[in-house]
Amino acid sequence: MSIAARAASLGTTVFSEFTALAQKSGAVNLGQGFPDFDGPAEIKEAAIAAIRAGENQYAPGPGSLALRTAISEHAARFYGQSLDPNSMITVTSGATEALFDALLGLVDPGDEVVVFEPFYDSYLAGIEMAGGVVRPVLLRPPDATHETFWFDADELRAAFSPRTKLVLLNTPHNPTGKVFTLAELELIAQLIEEHDALALVDEVYEHLVYAPARHLRFATLPGMHARTLTISSAGKSFSLTGWKIGWAMGPAELRRGVQSVHQFVTFASAAPFQTAVAAALRLPDDYFALVAREFVARRDRLAAALALAGLPTHRCDGAYFLLADISLARDANGAPFADDFAFCRHLTEKIGVAAIPPSAFYTAAHAQAGRGLARFAFCKRDATLDEAGSRLAKLSRATK
Ligand code: PMP
Ligand code: GLN
Repeated sequence: MSIAARAASLGTTVFSEFTALAQKSGAVNLGQGFPDFDGPAEIKEAAIAAIRAGENQYAPGPGSLALRTAISEHAARFYGQSLDPNSMITVTSGATEALFDALLGLVDPGDEVVVFEPFYDSYLAGIEMAGGVVRPVLLRPPDATHETFWFDADELRAAFSPRTKLVLLNTPHNPTGKVFTLAELELIAQLIEEHDALALVDEVYEHLVYAPARHLRFATLPGMHARTLTISSAGKSFSLTGWKIGWAMGPAELRRGVQSVHQFVTFASAAPFQTAVAAALRLPDDYFALVAREFVARRDRLAAALALAGLPTHRCDGAYFLLADISLARDANGAPFADDFAFCRHLTEKIGVAAIPPSAFYTAAHAQAGRGLARFAFCKRDATLDEAGSRLAKLSRATK
């Protein structure tokens, strides 16, 4: 008895592995990115009301019209986009499903996909299941001339070929906290046009952007509307990751690729949560501004605790993760850690704080780039971050 090769090669995600280890060890879980607080009370009430009102059978396959209309209005309010709810939006079970549907719906075997690494781990699985070929472009850590993670323009150019089908982009970026700048997005757009390619842009952290950084919707760059499918999700903007309501939006023909796959993956996502997310997307501008301000405070609180523990972090302009440099950390015998997995296991089991080893977010050829880092999620209550901080103080470090 054996399972299919395509499944056998996938293993278990690093999120499941470290959340299980955190639970077993009684560790504060700063690994998997989920808030330990709930989204707005009125939105939870809206879901309960929808259940009570009998919205308990299948939603329409593409998503309820109420939610598709709210998604369209939200895109008009924040980005000036005009998206027809009927032909340009599909609601999915989280952004993870939207990404999978889009890759299966757009990529033919042998097509090349340009993707910045590190990347959210489902990207690689989706590209491979579609039979696509990954063309990674490395995001390099900040250095004397770059304040944020950056890429080499020539390396990006060289990743394109006549076989390039699409660029898979994530901004704000998990795990680096990078928010792509206008100049960077313009270069990507120019290369997409030159190669007659498409863009699949994961903007799930669109509202988690910290001033002075600004989120730009890639689809609104000149020429990109017709070539771009944008993915987002209620999980991040409303701290409701367990509801798994996401969506894909873009020109009707690209959306047709997503919708065709979606109808046979889940057909429809959870009906009452769709009604509640429609209400969430209509929250006033103040809500979205407050969310960003609250996350800045959490980011700074965790960054300070990590710095005190000898784990300096890279600058984070968006999303809710900090990448820490682990090169000065030492095990109980005063020895440096072999790699990021060894460090994160030690931290979870012995120090009582779970983090994610970022080498899981690179192709095998470049995993080395993640081995000196650990990813910490700051989407946690102050008390959780403070408890993590006091445990982290026990970490041994090199004496310089
Ligand atoms: N894309 C990125 C970059 C993510 O970090 C995540 C999850 N944290 C997702 C997609 C998945 O979103 P969802 O939970 O809505 O499936
Ligand atoms: N995207 C979340 C993270 O990066 C985890 C989602 C998942 O567990 N698949 O932490």
